Amino acid sequence: MSRELHFDTLVVGGGIAGLQTALDLADQNYQVAVIEKDATIGGKMIRLSKVFPTLDCASCITTPKMAASAHHENITLFTYCNLKSLDRDSPESVTATVTQKPRYVDPDKCIGCRQCEYGCPVYVPDEEQGNFNLRKAVHIPFSNAIPQIAVLDMENCSLCGKCARVCPTDAIDYFEQPEDFIIHAKTAVLATGFELTPIDQKPEYNGGKVQNLITSMEMERLLAPHGPYMRVIRPSDGKEPDSIAYVQCAGSRDKTLNVPYCSRVCCMYAIKQAMLLSGALPLADITIYYMDIRAFGKGYEQFYQNAKAMGIEFVKGKIAKIEQADNQYVSLRYEAQEDGGRVVEREHDLVVLSLGMVPGWTPQGVCQVSCDTDRFIKSSMPQIAPTVTDMEGVFVAGVAAGPKDIVDTIAEAGAAAMEASKYMTALGKQKAA
Ligand SMILES: Cc1cc2nc3c(=O)[nH]c(=O)nc-3n(C[C@H](O)[C@H](O)[C@H](O)COP(=O)(O)OP(=O)(O)OC[C@H]3O[C@@H](n4cnc5c(N)ncnc54)[C@H](O)[C@@H]3O)c2cc1C
Repeated sequence: MSRELHFDTLVVGGGIAGLQTALDLADQNYQVAVIEKDATIGGKMIRLSKVFPTLDCASCITTPKMAASAHHENITLFTYCNLKSLDRDSPESVTATVTQKPRYVDPDKCIGCRQCEYGCPVYVPDEEQGNFNLRKAVHIPFSNAIPQIAVLDMENCSLCGKCARVCPTDAIDYFEQPEDFIIHAKTAVLATGFELTPIDQKPEYNGGKVQNLITSMEMERLLAPHGPYMRVIRPSDGKEPDSIAYVQCAGSRDKTLNVPYCSRVCCMYAIKQAMLLSGALPLADITIYYMDIRAFGKGYEQFYQNAKAMGIEFVKGKIAKIEQADNQYVSLRYEAQEDGGRVVEREHDLVVLSLGMVPGWTPQGVCQVSCDTDRFIKSSMPQIAPTVTDMEGVFVAGVAAGPKDIVDTIAEAGAAAMEASKYMTALGKQKAA
């Protein structure tokens, strides 16, 4: 018999959208459950270096929100969980079946001391650091992860037993099984965010096959203060790059990838990264190859102009081909639109693909909410109530509804919380009448 829990609102996704929604509702005294599929909350934002347009440290502004959610008396976090189903059974109630994935570490016993991690002899690529360095098979995802509970990656575990022997609280449990539990709530907010357009889907770009061709998220890690190398180097050989290029619209505005829309943040994050790079590597040449620059938000055009004034080169031309060149260089071929349309080939030490955003989750087979043709969750009233979906009492926030930056994500999370609160107030009034 599955455990049954009752809340006012269920938030699916513990990224910045989900956490802001949860905080806004919890501050109004609603009881909120947040379920997150990763072992830590924080979403993409906690994995960024700095944020445009202010260049604030991402971790410094995300960690307080994560901690506030974890310590709020009205918020309960469920990490490392999969949403199996979400149904509305009456106007007053949605029911979710959630699977707690096994961590093989008892969360009630783990004290986050990392003795298991230090003792573990198995090293595997660390996906949290763009796979540039290694982590242990049993580990805490990163230093400011919340919760600070270890997770054992059973696929890579050698079952040597060292972690269990060194654990001071006897928390390791190699036999843990997935466990379902039920959440009943009055409303739900879907804040399931995004993934990057898969790098290997465009054959012309040879994604995954060309050395020193990396994704924008990997560059975020190279630039982060706690990044894999603590400085920016060319991953293949550790050379400090003299020339770095950005390929804009690498996974957006491209019908061949089934991503015809603009992902809205790629121009700005490329400009941000280019500025950070010119600070870290003042002698490096930095080039951004673009179709158009979309600097749409408050202060964004000025940010773009500042980048140009700093000496970052902007070249108008869609990259047609990316190939491996000699000496671990990356070769780019493009039509120079502002130079008579000539076909030009240039080589760079390091090339970053400004990949677009695709939905982080599909509701198909899990809940009845509809998606748009772009596969993001559909708003039933996009002009006047963009967070309302076509499933009663179920709302959407952040990139789950479509590409957007952090500023718009936060604003939308507040709007979703307000819609959920209005829905619950109306339920209360109906009951009283
Ligand atoms: C390279 C890069 C750099 C960027 N830099 C900036 C910047 O400088 N400034 C800026 O304003 N914006 C920037 N952005 C955009 C920013 O990352 C997003 O606006 C923001 O992360 C959106 O937050 P979110 O919560 O909607 O989505 P996410 O951050 O994707 O969070 C969604 C969360 O939901 C979880 N989840 C997904 N499905 C499920 C499920 N079924 N069950 C449970 N949990 C689930 C995910 O694990 C994740 O934790 C950048 C984006 C990229 C790619």
